[in-house]
Amino acid sequence: MSIWQQGKRVMRHYSKQDMQTVRDALASRLADLTAHIRDGLSESEQNQFNAILGRGTGDSSDEALAVSLGDLSAARLDLDIRQWQALKAAEQRLDGSEFGVCVECGKAIPVARLVANPAAERCIECQSAYERSHGGQAHGSL
Ligand SMILES: [Zn+2]
Repeated sequence: MSIWQQGKRVMRHYSKQDMQTVRDALASRLADLTAHIRDGLSESEQNQFNAILGRGTGDSSDEALAVSLGDLSAARLDLDIRQWQALKAAEQRLDGSEFGVCVECGKAIPVARLVANPAAERCIECQSAYERSHGGQAHGSL
């Protein structure tokens, strides 16, 4: 019986090599995005952003991070910041057993899709359906 036939949620089945590829892709996108956001911030906003980054790992939850970034009054960078948050959240999920499992159908998301978009939470089929039912543009390439 293949994992596809179980219907319910599956455990991810990526090899260590696959996970490393995704991890590298995520780290490099996050670094690019961080630099891009910094470039777009004024000096006082940069201080705020650095303070948020400095809090970094430890016990700061995704929610705390989202709230902090929400306080950053850089509306022009809204989309970048949302992508950054999505990547940060993906980074925290990376070692969990649910990483790479589509939140809609429970199938494993193909590694190629995760490399292209490490923050992907849905397989391509479910993402298309989601975008159709949510007007498409709202979340860009995520
Ligand atoms: Zn799916």
